[in-house]
Amino acid sequence: MQYNYKYRLNPTEDVAETLLHHVDTCRQLYNHVLHLLNEADTIPARYEVQGRLPDLKSWWTDLGGVHSKVLQMVVKRVYDNLSTLKAQKENGRTVGMLKWKPPREYRSLTYNQTGFKLKNTSGRPTLWLSKIGEIPIQFHRDIPENATIKQVTVKQEPTGGWYATFGIDVDEATTEKPEKPEQVVGIDVGILKYAHDTDGYAIEGPDFSEERERLERVQRDLSRKERGSANWKKQRRVVAECHADLKRKRRDFLHKLSNYYATEYDLVAVEDLDAKGLVELPGNSRNRAGAAWGTFLRMLKYKCEREGTHFVAVDPKDTTKECASCGVKTDKPLWVREHSCPSCGFEADRDANAAWNILSRGLEDVGVGYSESTPVETALPVDTPVSAKRVVETGSPTLKERTASAVSE
Ligand SMILES: [Zn+2]
Repeated sequence: MQYNYKYRLNPTEDVAETLLHHVDTCRQLYNHVLHLLNEADTIPARYEVQGRLPDLKSWWTDLGGVHSKVLQMVVKRVYDNLSTLKAQKENGRTVGMLKWKPPREYRSLTYNQTGFKLKNTSGRPTLWLSKIGEIPIQFHRDIPENATIKQVTVKQEPTGGWYATFGIDVDEATTEKPEKPEQVVGIDVGILKYAHDTDGYAIEGPDFSEERERLERVQRDLSRKERGSANWKKQRRVVAECHADLKRKRRDFLHKLSNYYATEYDLVAVEDLDAKGLVELPGNSRNRAGAAWGTFLRMLKYKCEREGTHFVAVDPKDTTKECASCGVKTDKPLWVREHSCPSCGFEADRDANAAWNILSRGLEDVGVGYSESTPVETALPVDTPVSAKRVVETGSPTLKERTASAVSE
């Protein structure tokens, strides 16, 4: 499996300038290769063009200052874009030729296989890049031990911040899933709360109202400025920073939440992405909730894969209506927060009941029977809210401790 891990870089002013110079040299090479291909009667093989790089360096001195593998990746980029273009043409879409790249649209460079190293001298992590030097890196999460770093892409975002994205390969053999999962959980990604699981946890999404207000304020300020003026450009960057900040915080929460489930459990069951619950939300929050849900599921899936945890996305039909205890379906409007079964008398929080249904469907899908542990015996009958902060900050306590602390809150 291949994954991307992204980290913030903190280059000094000098190094940032060198990076910009390298990126711009790459951009010029990109345009040069594009020009070569446009002039050619038949398009040469990529390796042939890459083979011409040493010759180019004899008159184009700036190329000599950039790591050779980085230059080869520029050629690859042109060819990759070309094949994307061809694929789109086959689909019957009319697209123009590849475009010449202005600086605004070319912001990154890629080291592949060689020319980079992660260092950690005296607790200060840095990324070493050949022909550039060492750059302090904010190593906010570890790269899995069984992973091989294949490449690193260094990019300046429109906000001005620099980031390194590592393309890593994780050895599948070391992440086998248990045949008999013991720690199992069903998660109902709810609407009013973020998620509700079969261990009685209701995880509230973090409150971003302050960030959202700030974003609206700076956007208002931008609309008042004269388009294209120096102040307008400055303000546009502020808006981009606010957007990036909100996006980063949202992703960070989803990363931590998905990480928590993938590492704590042997089997995680969720509902397959489905728009049913989202229909009841107003437009904006619907889009936001839908996007967050999709991102959460994707993160959870690849983290489970990485940790050797079963990930099951079950059929979402009627998970709310069905009684987790006897299976009888009862209609419940959104505002009814309690499940109270008219047939067997089982009572639970609406989302907890749904989470149980999701878990039993998940166990069925994987083919493990858990008939001896029915929801009635184990489900917490009352709602026991736990803040997102709590889940995120809890290390890896046992199941029992977590339940106990949840109840005492
Ligand atoms: Zn029932």
